[in-house]
Amino acid sequence: MKNTLSTKASSINRALDEIGDKWCLLIIQEVLWGINTFTEMLSATGASRGVLSDRLNWLQSVDCLRKNQTNPKRPTYHMTKKSIELYHNGLMAMNWERKYFSTPELDSVELIHNGCGKVFWPVMQCACCNQRVHCEDIVFIPGPGAGKDQRVTKTRRRSSSIQSDGLGRTLYRNLINLLGDRWTANLVALAFHGLKRFDDFHKELPVATNILSDRLKLLVNEGIFCQQPYKSSPLRYEYHLTDKGHDLFPYFVTLLSWGNKWCQTGKGEPMLVKHSPCGANLKAEVRCDQCGDNLIATQVEFNL
Ligand SMILES: [Zn+2]
Ligand SMILES: [Zn+2]
Repeated sequence: MKNTLSTKASSINRALDEIGDKWCLLIIQEVLWGINTFTEMLSATGASRGVLSDRLNWLQSVDCLRKNQTNPKRPTYHMTKKSIELYHNGLMAMNWERKYFSTPELDSVELIHNGCGKVFWPVMQCACCNQRVHCEDIVFIPGPGAGKDQRVTKTRRRSSSIQSDGLGRTLYRNLINLLGDRWTANLVALAFHGLKRFDDFHKELPVATNILSDRLKLLVNEGIFCQQPYKSSPLRYEYHLTDKGHDLFPYFVTLLSWGNKWCQTGKGEPMLVKHSPCGANLKAEVRCDQCGDNLIATQVEFNL
């Protein structure tokens, strides 16, 4: 079919297709922070009016935003039950950003857990064995919903990077700039499944080869992949995840759990995720590193 792409069914892809666009990620982040009106969002995201209203409509259509029109002149936008569960995803995004980037705003952020009253860092742990979740400890097994997904390719072009002006509160700008393009994010997800070579990536993600090369180059330039030659004539490279790339794993795990729950097609999970150290199906929790409690949005305060 024209404008569709058949790829292996994946909850990560489904999640990315719903909310993985750069502007959608930014809007969700702002609403989580309590930015609720169109005007506030314009200045907070730096989006044009057209783009902003397009994405607000889209997010409502996929039940990730709710519009309150009590005051018809000044409607406000709110998180839904579905989008509030992206909270862990936001925390993992922030962790990565704080590890690899340094800005005065980022460095001064303190997260306070009301549960224990302490300043904390969120950590992802297995709910069964309480160990930290690392990508080398994970085994992916086809699940009951394994198969193919038809995905719409009509894609917005990889738009220019979001700027820092007026975006003082954007705590994971670099991550959004990088992964707010779903093909780029797809490639990173495929790398977590062990893919390394251009042809293998292309088999799983049959987009135009120039798009694929462009995104691979970007990931190398951003230090997420490093190139290693595997053939000398002609010279061919494999793409390996760097430490910076590996550290995106928890972010993708939160997308996977969210997609499993909220982007189902009724056939069950496309993929089962086993945690090798304990053998359980991975249930990843994002916890306070001080007291070990699973974190919920209403119990965390930000000091900016
Ligand atoms: Zn475990
Ligand atoms: Zn705590």
